[in-house]
Amino acid sequence: MKYRNALQDSTKLPRNASIAFHIAAIITFLVYGLYRLLHDDVFLFMVFLLAILPLSISLLLEIKHLGKVQHKQFTLILVCMAIAISSYYLGYKSLIYVFPTIFIFFFIFNLQHASILSSFYALICLVTALKIESFALVWRFGVATFDCIIFAAIFAYIIAKQKDALIYLATTDELTGALNRKNLAASLSLSIESFRHTGTDSSLLLIDIDHFKTVNDTYGHLAGDKLLTQFSEVIKQLLPAEAKLFRFGGEEFLVQYENCGLEKALDMAHKLKHAVNQTRFDGVPVTVSCSIGVAELRVKDSLEEWLKQSDIALYAAKKSGRNRVVSRLDK
Ligand code: GH3
Ligand code: MG
Ligand code: MG
Repeated sequence: MKYRNALQDSTKLPRNASIAFHIAAIITFLVYGLYRLLHDDVFLFMVFLLAILPLSISLLLEIKHLGKVQHKQFTLILVCMAIAISSYYLGYKSLIYVFPTIFIFFFIFNLQHASILSSFYALICLVTALKIESFALVWRFGVATFDCIIFAAIFAYIIAKQKDALIYLATTDELTGALNRKNLAASLSLSIESFRHTGTDSSLLLIDIDHFKTVNDTYGHLAGDKLLTQFSEVIKQLLPAEAKLFRFGGEEFLVQYENCGLEKALDMAHKLKHAVNQTRFDGVPVTVSCSIGVAELRVKDSLEEWLKQSDIALYAAKKSGRNRVVSRLDK
């Protein structure tokens, strides 16, 4: 539960880690800022303040649960500017701080932006350091810096792939490849919100395979499993990008169809029913049918009410003989 949202946003840095990063950066800049002040270098002290101030604001926002990735990105750019300016005056003493900052890019930007921005940032710092450092020294720093960028990018790439795999595993039904119910409530709530704010229609199609128990009993549980997988593929092939297919329960599937009012949803339901009737399922030498309850979203619907209406419609389809489509019954 606690990890559900953390997986969704690819650039989301966990709050505790973010606070630790902020504190480490503030202490570093504070120590060197005071050191510069003690040496009467007011200009560099001001440069370090350029980093400390936004870092402190960003830390406060994070502590108050108001932190957004954009704040952190903006703060990082200001911190990088401070390091680039100090590289001009301090040379390698400042260049060494390019290394830790590079890694932060990969935490708060996507892989492509992090690679481009960190390379650009490193290049600026290296060029400005040439003011007081030899070319040979800057060259050595340059090689090490770009090694860091490559390693950070590889690391971020591996993490992103693992995260994709985790999201897939956490949200997909293993047997049918349809979505499982983990994000169902959140996904339906988004449709309800967008209907209330922008009037975007949405419909539910609750699909139940007819007499599926007989398939299991007659042809075996394995044939039943195969049928479920093939059934899900038949449905998915016909659905447009705005429609999501969830496995709602054993042999029940739910289509959440965005940008879709009642008429369009009924058309789709008939298409799906027809395709199922036409499909020859492996190991099941009889015609398979399904019943579908269709419920378009209405203004007063809560999530539960919307789902309930699709269930009532499905029940009516079953009661009236199966292999049919029924739309919501309440007026
Ligand atoms: P109806 O037309 O009224 O929907 O009848 P039905 O037989 O399809 O419905 P019922 O609810 O009586 O039976 C559903 C069956 O689906 C019972 C259950 O064992 C089976 N089932 C649920 N999940 C799976 C699964 O993952 N694999 C297989 N093979 N069977 C499953
Ligand atoms: Mg059934
Ligand atoms: Mg059922």
